[in-house]
Amino acid sequence: MGTRRKIIAANWKMNQTIAETESFLNDFRLEVEDVSGVDIIIAPPFTALAKLSELLGGSQKIRTAAQNFYYEKSGAFTGEISATMLRELYVKYVILGHSERRSLFGETDALINKKVHAALESELKPILCIGETLAEREAGREKEIIATQLRGSLAGISAEQLLEVVIAYEPVWAIGTGVTASTAQAQDAHAHVRAVLAELTDAATADKVRIQYGGSVKPNNAAELLAQPDIDGALVGGASLDPRSFAEIVKAGGRD
Ligand code: PEP
Repeated sequence: MGTRRKIIAANWKMNQTIAETESFLNDFRLEVEDVSGVDIIIAPPFTALAKLSELLGGSQKIRTAAQNFYYEKSGAFTGEISATMLRELYVKYVILGHSERRSLFGETDALINKKVHAALESELKPILCIGETLAEREAGREKEIIATQLRGSLAGISAEQLLEVVIAYEPVWAIGTGVTASTAQAQDAHAHVRAVLAELTDAATADKVRIQYGGSVKPNNAAELLAQPDIDGALVGGASLDPRSFAEIVKAGGRD
């Protein structure tokens, strides 16, 4: 631990028009002007990606992410977006396997695995989301679920490729509910994620992979979560829609 740079990502989901994106960025940039030492990522809806990239103008400080993509290169896939289309917009990261994609759109670990491979082949860095439901946690199955999702989604990924992947541990029961995992629960799950990554590759590689926590991260709980030894960042939904609250979370992960 120690050398992993914190990575704070905004997942706007199906929120923010182009006009709202522009207004957010104007305010957010002022808020984080003096912040350094942290990677800042914004994942707007597809419709705002081009505008966001244009406004950022190649900024190294704030990068863009897509919330999803399809693994095929092109063709008859109505409604889908390819990696090439995202790269054309200078998109760097792609969120994969979000619990909403899994539960509302039927995404499986096998499909997510195809997307992870295709993303890496196109030099898009996956932010791979995993996490258990409330019923699974109440049944004491969270570690088994985490391991199954990681093994399935990362099948066939080499150690070198794993270094390009960010893992987001997002307990489903904490997403958008206002309920956050306790720091102890989150740290325990993150340590388990790292142990599974070590099994899949090796300990030195697993030690370098960044693991974000997601699930009702807010300005008032971010610092404590980010102080845990295996928590290397945050994936933020609701609180990322407001420039000031997202900036506060970013500041908790960086220096100013
Ligand atoms: C998310 O959707 O990735 C998320 C963590 O949402 P929220 O912060 O609103 O719980």
